[in-house]
Amino acid sequence: MTSADRTSVNALGAFRVVLVETSHPGNIGAAARAMKTMGLRHLYLVNPTGFPGAEATARAAGADDVLYHARVVSDLSDALKDCVLACATTARRREIGGVPRAPRGLAAELLSAAAKGPVALVFGRESSGLNNAEVLQCQLTLEIPANPAYSSLNLASAVQVVGYELRTAVLAGVSGDPDSGEELAGVGELEGLYAHFEAAATALGFHDPEHPKKLMARVRALFGKSRLTHSEVQILRGLLSAGERRAGDLERIQATLTDSPAGGAEQPPG
Ligand code: SAH
Repeated sequence: MTSADRTSVNALGAFRVVLVETSHPGNIGAAARAMKTMGLRHLYLVNPTGFPGAEATARAAGADDVLYHARVVSDLSDALKDCVLACATTARRREIGGVPRAPRGLAAELLSAAAKGPVALVFGRESSGLNNAEVLQCQLTLEIPANPAYSSLNLASAVQVVGYELRTAVLAGVSGDPDSGEELAGVGELEGLYAHFEAAATALGFHDPEHPKKLMARVRALFGKSRLTHSEVQILRGLLSAGERRAGDLERIQATLTDSPAGGAEQPPG
């Protein structure tokens, strides 16, 4: 490996592999091994079963340093909040999360985000994958183009393929240079924006939380593909706050009108 190669593979250090509710500890060990062979180091485990344990360590086959440094968290949002981008991996098509893209086509985008901060690659449960709410917490969806009649890879094999594609991309000189100097909004910050959007849309009478339809899934998809910067989120939240204040003003005026006798007209003294 040349020194240029060594520098570029350092870009892989910005990635974190997040395994959600893995039920077989052997898969955690095998995923750690797959990661280390490809130069990925950071492992996050959301509510794993049987970890830490002998089976995971045995299957890691020498990649136990990855396991040793693994962070165990109780909620996916804890693994994502400080990331600048999260990518859900899925073996099946869904109605939400946009059209999934192959890892080769996504590599440049993932690397360019990784030049700005941590990027999460999120993998689902062996039995049922990721649920829709988890996919919606991610801005990108990745699908390994497998045999459509048998598309579900073993969890660690999926980690291997995604890691391989990223490594191949950096070795081929795919640029991880950030497109601009601006700080990207973190995933936790985007969650704050979505919650604020929903509250403001409700206050303005645009959204009915009792009959939500797919509004928030669409809003997530819209902002998720924009790679919003920190300052753009501030602008949007400022606008939402202004809308909320206006909605509050209107509500107070309406309440005054309703409370006062004769629809708010001053009564002549008795
Ligand atoms: N039965 C599950 C698949 C579980 S495989 C389902 O129907 O969704 C475990 C995990 O490996 C998946 O959640 C995904 O993260 C990853 N994976 C498996 N096959 C994949 C593929 N073809 N493309 C992308 N990720 C895949």
